[in-house]
Amino acid sequence: MITIENLHKSFGKLKVLKGIDLHVATGEVVCIIGPSGSGKSTVLRCINRLEDPTSGRIVVDGHDITDPNTNINLVRTEAGMVFQQFNLFPHMSVLSNVTLGPIKVRGVSRPEAEEQGRKLLAKVGLADKAANFPEQLSGGQKQRVAIARALALNPKVILFDEPTSALDPELVGEVLEVMKKLAREGMTMVVVTHEMGFAKEVADRVIFVDEGVIQEENAPHEFFANPKNPRLRDFLSKVV
Ligand code: ADP
Ligand code: MG
Repeated sequence: MITIENLHKSFGKLKVLKGIDLHVATGEVVCIIGPSGSGKSTVLRCINRLEDPTSGRIVVDGHDITDPNTNINLVRTEAGMVFQQFNLFPHMSVLSNVTLGPIKVRGVSRPEAEEQGRKLLAKVGLADKAANFPEQLSGGQKQRVAIARALALNPKVILFDEPTSALDPELVGEVLEVMKKLAREGMTMVVVTHEMGFAKEVADRVIFVDEGVIQEENAPHEFFANPKNPRLRDFLSKVV
């Protein structure tokens, strides 16, 4: 579903990504962990072209998104994104947040988009919040709306950038439960997270990014039980 080859990204003189190679199969859940500032968000943002890669190749579901001829809006509908800070539209109802993309980008009729939107809100446990505005929701509820909004475009993959990092601890579980459900349903997911429990339980593969490269990747049990890279060992000793 995703192929990244030798991805480099610099901001001015700052070299953030220095040759990332990553393949994500259809239905796979890949968790990315690593220190703050190591380039985890930049990897996700390159995958849906919120950032332009400096060099390298990224193919999402057969579309070379680094090719200037590729329709980037199409790519963005195929790779949904869920952000740490939710990024809901504050002046729109919950339901409108979910239906905006299908109506504007996919040309779906409003009644059809609303029917689908209500189903998605029910799926994330928020059927009764359709008419509310984001400010009336808890952080966990906002993030579940953001997931419903991402799903509304029928993405091939969802990219999660620390989806629970802004939440009060007691609200983390409800968001992780929704993500687990998606994983069980076979959604392809790339998840930047500090939730090691989630990575252990749900990921097919865990990746450690540090200093702009993938330092280690492995199946979760092996990754956590037997880390080889000294920097990963050091990182795990601080976070687990
Ligand atoms: P992480 O998500 O792992 O914490 P990021 O990918 O957000 O790291 O950032 C990696 C590095 O790139 C950091 O040093 C950050 O300051 C820098 N960076 C990220 N985005 C930009 C930007 N738009 N302009 C300049 N520097 C940036
Ligand atoms: Mg980040």
